[in-house]
Amino acid sequence: MRILVVEDDAHLNRQLSEALKENGYVVDQAFDGEEGHFLGDTEPYDAVILDIGLPGMDGITILENWRANSRTMPVLILTARDRWSDKVAGIDAGADDYVAKPFHVEEVLARIRALIRRAAGHASSEIVCGPVRLDTKSSKATVNGEALKLTSHEFRLLSYLMHHMGEVVSRTALVEHMYDQDFDRDSNTIEVFVGRLRKKMGVDLIETVRGLGYRMQPPGETAPAAKPGKSR
Ligand code: CA
Repeated sequence: MRILVVEDDAHLNRQLSEALKENGYVVDQAFDGEEGHFLGDTEPYDAVILDIGLPGMDGITILENWRANSRTMPVLILTARDRWSDKVAGIDAGADDYVAKPFHVEEVLARIRALIRRAAGHASSEIVCGPVRLDTKSSKATVNGEALKLTSHEFRLLSYLMHHMGEVVSRTALVEHMYDQDFDRDSNTIEVFVGRLRKKMGVDLIETVRGLGYRMQPPGETAPAAKPGKSR
């Protein structure tokens, strides 16, 4: 999962970004409005943390622009403590949630987890695929109750596939959601990570969809075929 942090307070930006990285996310950082707007407009993010008071372009304008441009990623805004009007303006501009400063980083992390989960259609913090369980809160996974020892790349891969269970996920999408913008990306490495993940899980739940990508789904469930009754 890849997150964009737009915050001009360098200390706060770093604090948030480090906490997100420790929790298994990849992070891109922007320190002014223009850079933040550009990144959110051009790169695919699973969620964005957006400060409202920014130099260059303010958070509300950025958000309105993204939404007008059909950028639908979940956005959590950071507002000043006593500015209730910022919260209203932010939500009207298309924010999905907000946190008022000063905040505990843990609260931001919990809200980001919930936003990503809900955007992918999962109501609970644990995502289950047959014998595999992904605890989005602790960033840990188990197979038949046994802990899976995963590298950060393997975890991100599993997490993305499980959040998008049942969907065919392309290699390009995986690369874009597993690495930050500065990483030297190579989609061939995805195949290697998928191979390692399959081996560690010991159950084959990741299907290779030739020419398209990968799909993870619970055993016994087949891919949705053409909708019945449509050709009536
Ligand atoms: Ca600010």
